[in-house]
Amino acid sequence: MTSQRADGQYSIELPLSCPLLIDGEEGAATGGGEFQRENPANTREVATVAARGTLEDARAGIAAARRAFDSNAGNWLNNYKLREQVLFRTAQLMRENSDRLAQVVSLEVGMPMRQAVPHIAAAADIFEFYAGLAGKIYGESFTLPNGSLINLVKEPVGVVGLITPWNFPLTQTARKVAPALAAGCTIVLKPASYTPAAAYELVRLMHETDIPAGVLNLVPGPGTVVGSELVTSRDIDKLSFTGETGTGKMIAAQAATEVKRISLELGGKAPYLIFDDADVEAASQAAVFGMFRNAGQACGATTRLLLEDGIHDQVLERITQLTRAIEVGNPAANSTDMGPVISASQEQVVQEYIKFGMDAGFELVTGGNKLQGDGYNDGYYVEPTIFDGVDNSSRLGQEEIFGPVVAVTTFRDEAEAVELANAVDFGLVAGVWSADYPRAMRVARGIRAGTVWIWDNYAQPVEGIWGGYKQSGMGRELGYHGLEDFLEVKQIFTDGTGLTSKPPYGQVIKG
Ligand code: NAD
Repeated sequence: MTSQRADGQYSIELPLSCPLLIDGEEGAATGGGEFQRENPANTREVATVAARGTLEDARAGIAAARRAFDSNAGNWLNNYKLREQVLFRTAQLMRENSDRLAQVVSLEVGMPMRQAVPHIAAAADIFEFYAGLAGKIYGESFTLPNGSLINLVKEPVGVVGLITPWNFPLTQTARKVAPALAAGCTIVLKPASYTPAAAYELVRLMHETDIPAGVLNLVPGPGTVVGSELVTSRDIDKLSFTGETGTGKMIAAQAATEVKRISLELGGKAPYLIFDDADVEAASQAAVFGMFRNAGQACGATTRLLLEDGIHDQVLERITQLTRAIEVGNPAANSTDMGPVISASQEQVVQEYIKFGMDAGFELVTGGNKLQGDGYNDGYYVEPTIFDGVDNSSRLGQEEIFGPVVAVTTFRDEAEAVELANAVDFGLVAGVWSADYPRAMRVARGIRAGTVWIWDNYAQPVEGIWGGYKQSGMGRELGYHGLEDFLEVKQIFTDGTGLTSKPPYGQVIKG
């Protein structure tokens, strides 16, 4: 249980842990290896000590999931009511333990509590949504003119390997685990190494439900060992991955050798287009929310602000004011708007992009510095940063930074706006702000991205979808599409003619 949390402090006991959880049993890694996750807001503190899963552990997790699937453990494949109950109960347990879960996420990610608390609620909503779908997986039936019957039945795809990133650890996990379980799959989950405890806390709670042993297995450990085994093992029927585009490309190439089914949720470089007729205040607030939520460490973060030249100055002035008012600091404090970035290497990457922007001669509007002094020295704190006059074809306009650095570029008309929005390798999300709805709709249709928001930013209702065009991935999460990602369709054909010698047989058999 979590005791009362004083503002600015976590009340959970450290270090957190993340053992293996295979076949319903917790355990250490083979050989006893462990790894530590530091608190990114205070690197003198160890947030988590996790089991360093080995190849052998990955194989044990896969074998457990395979056995559970092949033996139909607890009638898991047929009993949708059990699956429904497990998912509903998970949502309930998450809500009952919301404060603890939010603290775990906040600690491991450096996510401000003000964002971590709704993050837990959003993850619980995902479990609830798929609980409602578990008993609604209908097939189709069709009768041919000769009376024969085609039945199209939907079946779970089998044993699935789920590899998740660290940035929104519980919603990312829920988007895969919940639909996979609703479909009747069994799982091996490999969490990101920055956020193992967040994954474990969820999986542990799920084992307080009636989930049969072996249906959900957790194997923390290196991506190149545990993750790689999930990609290549013949006992994994489908792999669902969220992470960097570079890792995704490697995984796609490896998975191809086994013709393994894969879904990939990869990087982004989201544009936000604001036209001259936009409501400056509403558009600026929407943009800033997308720019600096979770310190810009979001695949759908607003990273390219495209402004029509007539509104450029007004919007830039307002977003600069809003950005300067962002309180950066201790994620455990209720007033904090932005925490640290995830790691020393990520801080360095962010600094390199800032240096690139300065060297390229783009105008640094605000930010650009590492934060130093009281409360900052032991964490990876960077100021929210905006560059104006950025050439969209430069590295700042093209590459995913995954930090609080935004590129502003001006456009002259609708055609140029759409051209700039599409002139990147990614196509995950985008936003459009114009008072002229037909134009906003035209632009939304013209942008090649999986989601385009009109008059909003970063809305992710579970009833909708999430997924990318181009190098942002393949497949869709959330909604009914997210469930279909974990289903196979089988045709069962039943003769309805009753004939012994059916007309086509004459092609081979005489008389
Ligand atoms: P990452 O690619 O470094 O790691 C993701 C996961 O893959 C981790 O669990 C990691 O251990 C594992 N992994 C690493 N190498 C592997 C390998 N060779 N084989 C198998 N698994 C391996 O990404 P990250 O830093 O955790 O996450 C940030 C990235 O994720 C960003 O690029 C972001 O855009 C992307 N992301 C995308 C979405 C989306 O929905 N499209 C959502 C969140 C994050």
